[in-house]
Amino acid sequence: MQLQSKIDSPRLEIRNLRKRYGHRHVVDDVSLSVRPGNVTCLLGPSGCGKSTTLRMIAGVDMQDSGEIYVDGQLICDTVFRIPPERRQIGLMFQDFALFPHMSVADNVAFGLKNAREEKRDRVEELLAKVNLGWAIDKYPHVLSGGEQQRVALARALAPRPRIMLMDEPFSGLDNRLRDGIRDETLAVLKEEDTAVLLVTHEPEEAMRMADEIALMRDGRIVQQGAPYNIYNAPVDKQAVAFFSDVNVIHSQSNGALTDTPFGQFLTPGWEDGAPVDIVIRPQHFKLDFDRDGRGPLPTESDGVAARGVVMRSRFMGNESLVEFVMDHDGSELKVTVPNVFLPKPGTALWLTVRRDRCFVFPAEN
Ligand code: ADP
Ligand code: MG
Repeated sequence: MQLQSKIDSPRLEIRNLRKRYGHRHVVDDVSLSVRPGNVTCLLGPSGCGKSTTLRMIAGVDMQDSGEIYVDGQLICDTVFRIPPERRQIGLMFQDFALFPHMSVADNVAFGLKNAREEKRDRVEELLAKVNLGWAIDKYPHVLSGGEQQRVALARALAPRPRIMLMDEPFSGLDNRLRDGIRDETLAVLKEEDTAVLLVTHEPEEAMRMADEIALMRDGRIVQQGAPYNIYNAPVDKQAVAFFSDVNVIHSQSNGALTDTPFGQFLTPGWEDGAPVDIVIRPQHFKLDFDRDGRGPLPTESDGVAARGVVMRSRFMGNESLVEFVMDHDGSELKVTVPNVFLPKPGTALWLTVRRDRCFVFPAEN
């Protein structure tokens, strides 16, 4: 029983953290927790308060209110404060400057206090994990950006931190390297059973790395959950739009239904006349040819088809993006189709939506 509760307790927990600069609430009542061996991504646009949150957990900034716990023990509130160097927290930032005058081995050993022999063992162990055993006696300037990054990871992990805080750690690397280094980093972090809080503004990075995503906006966490849930059950229009292009159809609820050119959507319990936004991702349309003006073949489940005229189509690599002007109201819609589909501008096509994949929200003003 006791063992079970230990396994279940979060490694890092922050409760109701707040920070103000001047009159601005930069971090506004943020709570979250991270388990050992898990990666939680704090994901949100630039300026939403991610780094400030991380700095408070690291102990380099002081919160106005709220508490931080590690393994169930209070490490910081507004009265009590364990200094940063005693929090057993590892840090990794975008500009992870290695010490240029020290060898790779000395860089990695920098935070270690144990005896020389033990130090060497730990350094060798970590460099093997990041596939840099061969570089142990080299100096940072002879290593590539990606290799330096892996040294920085080894250095941060050497003292076996209970928690790793990573602030956009991969954004300085070029695209081709990034995916590989993300995957390697993730594997090492899992092996070391560290609890990781990773800050990023890139949805793809969060989807790739996170066990959990905490979506942040204007200092607040607006949604938290597994990547699948965040993507497929977003809380509002902005949460959809953060991950992909969106199409929005405005309408009104009437008799628990909302009429659109693509058929009716269920809006049970909504007041008559309540404004509704139907939010549709570009990949959730189906396209049909015009069959000489006779419309598409009828299908039961797809609702109603609406006719649109192609404005432009572009090949994007894995998919093609086709932009339409709709016959019924002149509105524009973005549709993506897997692989290559590049109809000429002026082509008329019929669009249906996968209604079960659309999101229905109260309209925002
Ligand atoms: P993010 O990491 O999400 O991009 P930050 O946490 O760095 O955002 O910053 C959030 C907001 O707080 C920004 O508008 C930033 O300008 C402001 N801010 C951050 N640090 C300070 C500071 N020391 N003094 C005043 N404003 C700050
Ligand atoms: Mg930041």
